[in-house]
Parts: sequence; structure tokens; C-alpha cells
Amino acid sequence: MKRLTVFCGSSAGTDPIVYLQATLLGQTLAKNNIELVYGGAKVGLMGAVADGALSAGGKAIGVLPHFLRSKEIAHEHLTELILVDSMHERKTKMHELCDGVIALPGGFGTFEELFEMLTWAQLGLHQKPIGLLNCNGFYDPLVAMIQSMVDKGFLKQVNQDMLLVSNTIDDLLYKMKHYVAPTVGKWIKEENV
Ligand code: AMP
Repeated sequence: MKRLTVFCGSSAGTDPIVYLQATLLGQTLAKNNIELVYGGAKVGLMGAVADGALSAGGKAIGVLPHFLRSKEIAHEHLTELILVDSMHERKTKMHELCDGVIALPGGFGTFEELFEMLTWAQLGLHQKPIGLLNCNGFYDPLVAMIQSMVDKGFLKQVNQDMLLVSNTIDDLLYKMKHYVAPTVGKWIKEENV
């Protein structure tokens, strides 16, 4: 893995452990010679992860839509800031640039980005690893919800397994590095119904 995209909150949240883990994730990527691709802002967890990577001598590439430039306050010290025209272009660019994605805690934007990567994966549109860093239990309710989707027949086990979950950065990176995407498609074949 040479480049990873990190999706995370444009807010800092209220849990200092989460903020620290965002910084630590940036630093760990740098130490492993993995370039960071992210949303390009200097605010919230986005700023923490970028500052972490840059402070450890790593590279941070931001992808920011023009219209968000002032709202999310562009980071001024990035290795590269790519300005795009729309949110769709931003996600496409972030996807194109990376070998995998990690979601940290965040709000609607983070969830939307994470779930789009998952839905693209279950359709077989990409084979990249998708990691969820469950910082201080933030994602426990989501992990339980996803298990409920499987139990109630809305999600296949093989698709649930596409989301790699861990409480620690090193374990998550290990899982991502060794991830092999399944060849099975989402759609049930007519003969199997
Ligand atoms: P949030 O998790 O809501 O703080 O947002 C995290 C990042 O996702 C921010 O850079 C938002 O601009 C971005 N974002 C918000 N909504 C969307 C969306 N519909 N599509 C893509 N990115 C979004």
C-alpha cells in the first residue's frame, strides 16, 4: 500500500482519545512510507490526520472542492492540494489516487464516503481494502447495526467481511495489507433463487 485515503470528521469531536488517534494515524502512515490522501481541510480530525503525517515527515495530498475551500479552511502546508469542481469529483479523485481507505470517526460526510466505497466494493467495482478504525468504541453501534443487517438478511456475510474493523492502527493496517477481495458478486444468480 503506497497511498491510503482517510475519511474523517471535519469536526474534532469531543473525545480527546479520538483526536489523538487521528494524529497518530497520520504519523503511522508517514512512518510506513504510506502517503495520505484526504479531504484537504485543516479543521477537525481532517487537520489532525494531515498534521500527524506532515509532522512525521510524510506526504499529505488534499482533495478539496472549490466551494468548500473557505468553509472547510484549506490546509496551507500540504504536499499537494488538488482543487476539484464537485463532491462527486472529489470522491472519484480520492478513490483513484489510493490503494485503500480508512474511516475514522466523523459525521454524515464520513459515513457517506465510507458507504460509497463499500457499495462500490460489493458491486465488484474495486478490490481495495476498506478499514474502519474503531477509535475508543466510537463505531461499536455501527458494527452492531451491520451485524443486524446480516442477521436480518439484508447484507451477505461476504460483503460484511469487506469492512475490516479494528481498535488499533497497526492491526488495521495489517488486515488491510493482507486483504484479498472476494470474487463473488452482490447479485443473487437466478438459478440460486
Ligand atoms: P463530516 O463527517 O460530516 O464532518 O464530513 C467529513 C467530510 O465529508 C467533509 O470534508 C465533508 O465536506 C465531506 N462530505 C460531506 N458531505 C459529503 C457528501 N455528500 N459527499 C462527499 N463528501 C461529503
